Amino acid sequence: MGSVAEERALGFGGLVSDLREVYESGRTKDLEWRQSQIKGLIRLMQEKEEEIFDVLREDLGKHRGESFRDEVGVLVKSVKDKLKNLHKWAAPEKADAPLVAFPATAFVVPEPLGVVFIFSCWNFPIGLALEPLCGALAAGNAVVLKPSELAPSTSAFLAANIPKYLDSKAVKVVEGGAEVGEKLMEHRWDKVLFTGSARVGRIIMTKAAKHLTPVALELGSKCPCIVDWLDGSRDSQVAVNRITGAKWSACAGQACIAIDYVLVEEEFAPILIELLKSTLKRFFTKPEHMARILNKKHIQRLSDLLEDPRVASSVVHGGSVNPKTLSVEPTILLNPPLDSDIMTEEIFGPLLPIITVKKIEDSITFLKSKPKPLAIYAFTRNEKLKRRIIEETSSGSVTFNDAVVQYGLDSLPFGGVGHSGFGQYHGKYSFEMFSHKKAVLKRSFLIEFMFRYPPWDESKIGMLRHVYRFDYVNLFLALLGLRR
Ligand code: NAD
Repeated sequence: MGSVAEERALGFGGLVSDLREVYESGRTKDLEWRQSQIKGLIRLMQEKEEEIFDVLREDLGKHRGESFRDEVGVLVKSVKDKLKNLHKWAAPEKADAPLVAFPATAFVVPEPLGVVFIFSCWNFPIGLALEPLCGALAAGNAVVLKPSELAPSTSAFLAANIPKYLDSKAVKVVEGGAEVGEKLMEHRWDKVLFTGSARVGRIIMTKAAKHLTPVALELGSKCPCIVDWLDGSRDSQVAVNRITGAKWSACAGQACIAIDYVLVEEEFAPILIELLKSTLKRFFTKPEHMARILNKKHIQRLSDLLEDPRVASSVVHGGSVNPKTLSVEPTILLNPPLDSDIMTEEIFGPLLPIITVKKIEDSITFLKSKPKPLAIYAFTRNEKLKRRIIEETSSGSVTFNDAVVQYGLDSLPFGGVGHSGFGQYHGKYSFEMFSHKKAVLKRSFLIEFMFRYPPWDESKIGMLRHVYRFDYVNLFLALLGLRR
C-alpha cells in the first residue's frame, strides 16, 4: 500500500486489501492483541488528555470541563470496562442441547466480522470515533475510521496519534469529506457503522447493498421531554437543572440525544420558563462555558428556523444569533406552530420550544404521532405515566427524571429505532455490534434416532411429536415399543 494520500488518488483499493490481509493472517483475532489495542486507547486518552481538550476547543469551543465529562472521562471509563470484561465476552457461551440432538454440546462463539468501516460525527468527535473503534478492536476486527471533516483539528489529532498508540497495520484513519466517504463505500466491508444524518445514511445503505454489507445507522431525531409537574420544590429545581444541562451544556444542543422540545401542561409553562431563565443565568456565567455552533452553515440553519414570523413571535427568551462568534443565545420559545420547521426538523442547537398540552397524558398521543426518536425524557413522579410511556411509545431509550446521562451507562445499549436509526453499541453492545454470534453444535456418534429418517410411518411421526413436545417419558416408551 502507498501513503494514505496516494491511496486516496487510487480509490483506496490497496488500503482495503492490506487490511484484509492483516485480518486473514489471524493477528487481530488473538485475545492478547485485542487487549493490547484497548490498552493503547487508554494510554492515548490519558497521555493526550490536554491535546484532546485543545482540539475540542478549536473545533467546537467546548470547555475542558464539558470535554472531560462528555468525551474523555466517559470514554476512559467505558474502554476500561471493555478491557475488564473482554475475556468474558469473547468466550464461547454454552447453549442448551435438547434431547433431539442427544448426546451433544452447543455453544455460541463470538467471532470477528473482518474489516469494518466507521464513520464518526463532528459533535462528539472523540467519543463517537473511539467508542465504536474500541468495540471493533475488542471484537477482533481490522478497522478503517473516517473522522468527520467538520471537526478538522480532532480529525488531524486522531490521524496523527492513532497510529502511534494502536497497531497501524490493522487500524487506518482516513481523513476527508463526502468524496472520501463515497470512494471508501465502493469497497466491500464486513460492517459499516455510520453516525450522521438520515440523508447520508440512505446513501451509505444504498452503497452497502451492492456488497450485502451489514450497516448500523446512528442518526438524529427530535427528542421530546415531558415535564409532568413543577412547583417551588427542590425536585422542580433539580428537574430544571437537568433540562438546562441536557439542552445547553452538551455541545450547545448539537447532540443527537439533546432535548429537542418540552411538553408541559399549560399551567406549568410560566413556572418552567422562569426556572429555565434563572438556571441559565446561574450555569452560564461566562461565554466560554457553552460550546459554539459548528460553522456558518449551521448558524444560518438556526437563524432560518427563527426567521418564520410565527416562530419569531413565540420567542420568550433569547433569540439573538452572532455569526461572528458562531454563537446563538440560549433561546426559549412558547408554542411555535407545530407545522413550522423548528417543530418538524431536528433543531440541533440551543433553541428550546415549549409546547403546552391540556393534560400531560395528551403528550403520549403527541409522541405517537411523530417518528420514533433516539430518546424520550420525562420528568415525573407518576408511576402510571412512566409505565404508559414505556409501554405505549417507541424510542431508542427512555430516561425518567434526567436527560442525556443514559449515554454514559455501559450497561445500556445506545442506538435508535425506526427513523432514528438501527444497531446498538456502548459497553458489551459495542463488542456485539462488531461480532458475529456463530452457532456451534458438536454431536456424538453414540446414539442414532432412526425415526428422523424415511421411510415414514405413523410410529415415527408419533416419536417426532414426543420429541418436539419435550415429552421424553412417552418417547422412551415409544422407543421401547410400549406406545406410539
Ligand atoms: P452528515 O450526515 O452530513 O455526514 C456524516 C459523514 O458522512 C461525514 O463524515 C461526511 O464526510 C460523510 N458523507 C457525507 N456525504 C457522503 C456521501 N455522499 N457518501 C459517503 N460519505 C458521505 O453529518 P451531519 O448532518 O453533520 O451530522 C449530524 C447528524 O448526525 C444529526 O442528525 C445528528 O443527530 C446525527 N448524530 C447522531 C448520533 C447518534 O449517535 N445517533 C450522534 C451524533 C450525531
